[in-house]
Amino acid sequence: MDLTAHALDLTLTTPFRISRSVQTLAHNVLTRIDGDGVEGIGEAAPSSYNGERRESVFMALSDFGEHIDLDLDLIEDIVNAMDRRLHANAAAKASVDMALYDLLGKRLGAPVYQLLGLNPDRAPLTSFTIGIDEPAVMARKAKEAAKTYKVLKIKIGTERDLETVRAIREATDVTLRVDANAAWTPKQAIRRIRELEPYDIEFVEQPLPPTDLEGIRFVREHVALPIIVDESCVTESDIPGLVGAVDGINIKLMKCGGIHHALRMIHTARAHHLKVMLGCMIESSLAITAAAHISPLVDYADLDGHLLISDDPWEGVAVEEGRLVLPERAGLGVRPRDHDARRQAVASAASSSRHPRRAPRQEVEEEE
Ligand SMILES: [Mg+2]
Repeated sequence: MDLTAHALDLTLTTPFRISRSVQTLAHNVLTRIDGDGVEGIGEAAPSSYNGERRESVFMALSDFGEHIDLDLDLIEDIVNAMDRRLHANAAAKASVDMALYDLLGKRLGAPVYQLLGLNPDRAPLTSFTIGIDEPAVMARKAKEAAKTYKVLKIKIGTERDLETVRAIREATDVTLRVDANAAWTPKQAIRRIRELEPYDIEFVEQPLPPTDLEGIRFVREHVALPIIVDESCVTESDIPGLVGAVDGINIKLMKCGGIHHALRMIHTARAHHLKVMLGCMIESSLAITAAAHISPLVDYADLDGHLLISDDPWEGVAVEEGRLVLPERAGLGVRPRDHDARRQAVASAASSSRHPRRAPRQEVEEEE
């Protein structure tokens, strides 16, 4: 497979704190696959929590490129071959998977959602995430974000959760979801969730450590709010074991290995009458747009990774008053952010110069 991998560094607008960590940079990877002159692009957002680093992504991608040589249209076969060859490396696999969907869409002249037969008008609202900070700071950020987003996801899991949620609820009346990122014991979870119930919360995400499914079941039986799991649900094989213990799952391309696996997870979850949320890591518009193409299939979207960074190099899915608006261009429909500006600059430079230079035009064409 003609595959190259490149460093893609992203900078968080403000440090992003959750119950177990704080992040200021994302060391992601851009994957390019060349299919007879048509290029597919994908992104890996490796997470040390899931056992990946940029170096491990580079190693996995180099291995795929060398050993997997199948027809690039045969995504099912390639995904299965990747799974047989490597058991982890989900973010690396996701970058290959989305590059293949991009390539296929470009070859067929159709956006990915159309290849999948999905209705773009069914793409849900995305939540916007407020990281952990002083309650007053979180309330101020929530009030500001609520001017644009109708759903906010509040990171909790500290001693000040009640104070935080109360302050945010006083600041805004938009839909609120909370995510404890595995911070609690079962008894703490029951007490804290009950304390939050009067503040009109839509659901609670990952109250307990991922493997404590009996604890999660116990908590769910003793609180009124729905329980969605994220860290407890990585791939489709986790889903049957969650039935009866949770109300829904949070699927991420970087956990499961890409669009193809995410589709399997969505259908598996539906077969078990579970709610489905589509989430993300800190990602540019490239990986976020890949997830957005399958968002018409899910109940809840939390696709805001690209909204939390200051140097997104791409434009793809738009977010209009919180609603995900899918690009109509072929493939993923992602292109460099300054695409139009550069094109205009080159056109005006060419028209104003008596000796138009060839080089800038080629540069733009290469990036299309
Ligand atoms: Mg989560």
